[in-house]
Amino acid sequence: MTIKENLNEIKSQLPEHVSLVAVSKTKPISDLMEAYNAGQRIFGENKIQEMVDKWGTMPKDIQWHMIGHVQRNKVKYMAEFVNLIHGVDSFKLLKEIDKQAKKYNRAIDCLLQIKIAKEDSKFGISAEDAKMIISSDEFSELENIKIVGLMGMATFTDDMQQVESEFKYLKSAFTDLSKLNSENCELQTVSMGMSGDYQLAIDCGSNMIRVGSSIFGARNYN
Ligand SMILES: *Cc1c(COP(=O)(O)O)cnc(C)c1O
Repeated sequence: MTIKENLNEIKSQLPEHVSLVAVSKTKPISDLMEAYNAGQRIFGENKIQEMVDKWGTMPKDIQWHMIGHVQRNKVKYMAEFVNLIHGVDSFKLLKEIDKQAKKYNRAIDCLLQIKIAKEDSKFGISAEDAKMIISSDEFSELENIKIVGLMGMATFTDDMQQVESEFKYLKSAFTDLSKLNSENCELQTVSMGMSGDYQLAIDCGSNMIRVGSSIFGARNYN
């Protein structure tokens, strides 16, 4: 199957309220252009430098999502153009994003990454920490960021019941935290679901899925 066929296949199964982030990390521009020419406009990358390089060469109507772990000292490289940062996991990072966005006179949309997996390796904060952040006075002073939702990654396991309970937990945290809406926090997006589990994620309330290998094929990290 070609990239275009893969994309069309996935899109034909998606309810209208679910947006598709095409995760293009490690893939060459030619692959991304194939997806672009098939109509895809949202691309997700997990390394800032790689995203900056691709942004520099590709058409300007693409929305670039940073889906990986973000180091504070690299925020400045993407502040001009990044459309959504999925992996925000501290107030310090939010403050840096706010500071860099101000230089471009814009507000950057962010998702708080909630740790829903059992594994230690997954980044993220607890729903309680998220609540503390968005209800703090310091947070309300940030004018150049906006929290628009939550992101989560389920445990890497074949146990679909485990995955389902983690997705349901993220959705319930979303419902809970939505009550705290403010000027710079308006939760709309639940980013969960990847190639192996996006159907389940949608059933559990996801409205943004991040799909890589089912579109572009397996990744080669060499
Ligand atoms: C790589 C990655 C994905 C996509 O994974 P696939 O299994 O290839 O669909 C989704 N989300 C994050 C955060 C990723 O790093």
